Amino acid sequence: MARIVILGAGESGAGAAVLAQKKGFDTFVSDMSHIKDHYKQMLDERGIRWEEGRHTEELILNADEVIKSPGIPNDAPIIRQVKDRGIPVISEIEFAGRYTTAKMVCITGSNGKTTTTSLIYHIFKKAGLNVGLAGNIGKSLAYQVAECNHDYYIIELSSFQLDNMYNFHADIAVLMNITPDHLDRYEHKMQNYVDAKFRIIQNQTDNDAFIFWNDDPIIQHELHKYGIHGHYYPFAARKEQGLAAFTEENRIYFTEPIAFNMEQEELALTGTHNLFNSMAAGISANIAGVKKECIREALGDFKGVEHRLEKVARVKGVEYINDSKATNVNSCWYALQSMTTKTILILGGKDKGNDYNEIAQLVKEKCSGLIFMGLHNEKLHAFFDGFGLPIRDVQSMADCVQAAYEMAQKGETVLLSPCCASFDLFKSYEDRGDQFKACVRNL
Ligand code: ADP
Repeated sequence: MARIVILGAGESGAGAAVLAQKKGFDTFVSDMSHIKDHYKQMLDERGIRWEEGRHTEELILNADEVIKSPGIPNDAPIIRQVKDRGIPVISEIEFAGRYTTAKMVCITGSNGKTTTTSLIYHIFKKAGLNVGLAGNIGKSLAYQVAECNHDYYIIELSSFQLDNMYNFHADIAVLMNITPDHLDRYEHKMQNYVDAKFRIIQNQTDNDAFIFWNDDPIIQHELHKYGIHGHYYPFAARKEQGLAAFTEENRIYFTEPIAFNMEQEELALTGTHNLFNSMAAGISANIAGVKKECIREALGDFKGVEHRLEKVARVKGVEYINDSKATNVNSCWYALQSMTTKTILILGGKDKGNDYNEIAQLVKEKCSGLIFMGLHNEKLHAFFDGFGLPIRDVQSMADCVQAAYEMAQKGETVLLSPCCASFDLFKSYEDRGDQFKACVRNL
């Protein structure tokens, strides 16, 4: 019996184990840290063996194939050992893709993945399709392939998931944008990260669709390199021949396969970045044959996703916005750009090699004060101190919201859009956003 070893027992690892077991593999799960109780239960109920707090080499290096959690870096010692033995390393998505003929709609990009994925899922659901939501959100694809029988999967793919995908094939691939992110995991080489993102179109055929933001300079520059087979569906916020979606005089036009248009004002999500997300989602649904009336309606009644430009409360005339998911500089740029009042910007956390030049101009134009929230704020000070804005340093969310409350004038906005990962002070970006909301509601 072939042996599959799964490294990392989070959502994707536990799901991969369930599927592997179901398909008759000798299945073993190993996690260097603690495995959550409900995943242990999931494994135990099915008689799947697991270990936590260690990687036992004898139980791992005898695998025929290893499924790696996207959280484990490629240069982790155990992965090196596995590779030295010539054992193939794949992702959970690659594995799950082997056992389903469902149509795959896959979304990647540096920013906008979760929003676009959730929006596409919302439209497909509303259209009555039998659809599953997978990837970085919802249940893992492997689990759903094992336990459900969907006709479509809408899958959010990070570059880390794409790294270990080889034969997987997306019927509809969406590439939102490419800006520097996670470079610490790519030997600080932008090209490595770009190549990972473009894996979303590998194995596509002429019958498949490739949707992308036409004005992204990196996508434009790289497009020709990859021998793309899928039909192109570019979109942009201006009119030009050949675009599958564009805007003109506050209307969005979808051109193919079915042509229709709608008022930009009808969109549930606001801001330029969300216009792009709505276009990408609308094109995906259009290609899948969803009726135009349904697409229009669903783009208009989507409720948004938590921690993404989420309005929290208005306190003494000051609007508080939680954009905790802005873990890189580009997403903060879009958040700032959509601000309509002077803004107190909360920045900081675990810096992933950020270049703050990208937001310098917007900070000068829009910000009336800055709050640096992190264990190491030196880089932020070095960059922003010369701007002449009031700055406060904080190391807890309670102090942060208190500082914001003291700094913000009536009519202004307090924006948590930190440009950084959260791990120095918080468990996750969700934890950071939840604490922000709780503190704001306590004001
Ligand atoms: P991802 O899943 O790629 O991290 P999200 O949809 O969770 O993307 O959004 C993360 C942040 O990025 C949001 O808080 C928002 O400020 C910003 N953002 C959302 N969509 C886009 C986009 N298309 N382009 C640039 N920034 C975006």
